[in-house]
Amino acid sequence: MDDALKELLALRDIDEKMARIRKKLDDKPARLGIQKREVDTAEQELAGVRDQVKQLQQIVDRKSVALRAAEDDVKKLTIQLNTLKTNEEYQTMQRQIEAKKGEISGIEDEVLESMDVVEKATIDLPGRQAKLKEERELLARKEEDLAAELELMRKQMEDLEAEWQAKSEAVDPQALERYETLRSSLGHTALVEVSPEGICQGCYTKVTSNILNTALAGRSIDCNNCHRLIYVPG
Ligand SMILES: [Zn+2]
Repeated sequence: MDDALKELLALRDIDEKMARIRKKLDDKPARLGIQKREVDTAEQELAGVRDQVKQLQQIVDRKSVALRAAEDDVKKLTIQLNTLKTNEEYQTMQRQIEAKKGEISGIEDEVLESMDVVEKATIDLPGRQAKLKEERELLARKEEDLAAELELMRKQMEDLEAEWQAKSEAVDPQALERYETLRSSLGHTALVEVSPEGICQGCYTKVTSNILNTALAGRSIDCNNCHRLIYVPG
């Protein structure tokens, strides 16, 4: 393997490391973002339930007032009932009383139903709230850890970049230019292995025997198919 190839491989190895770090720099915040959105959604749902309970409680309160009014009406009508003179008046009022009692029974059913929902939700709410608080705290800790991790990775990137620059100075300018041009479109796969049988590991096709012979002689050379730089390891 000639020196020019060794120097390029050193750069390629740094590019590989940087590509791995760059992927983590993208992936890790994205993953935490998904978790954050899940907690946000759960919090919105909980706020919705809380609102619903509040509304139901208001309905219960309103209906309780209506219930008491209807009960008062029945009392008043019952007292009036005994003061009536004719049988016809008596029966009319009795029908009114029966109708009121029916109304009361209906309101009572509605109140009970709403109270049932309110009670169940009230029992569930503190647990859900506590669980969400826990999740929110866990998320905050993860965010802190991630921030530190990202900071570290950015520092690693800077160090690798500096190392790359330093090592690139030893590389033949023409070879460096060629590698950098390829790297701008292919990333760290600008320089790949070719198998001793002549299969390029960038495009998985067989290179010509002339090209393979050059690679076998320890030099880097363009793949005749994908135009990556190829080499035989060893
Ligand atoms: Zn190729």
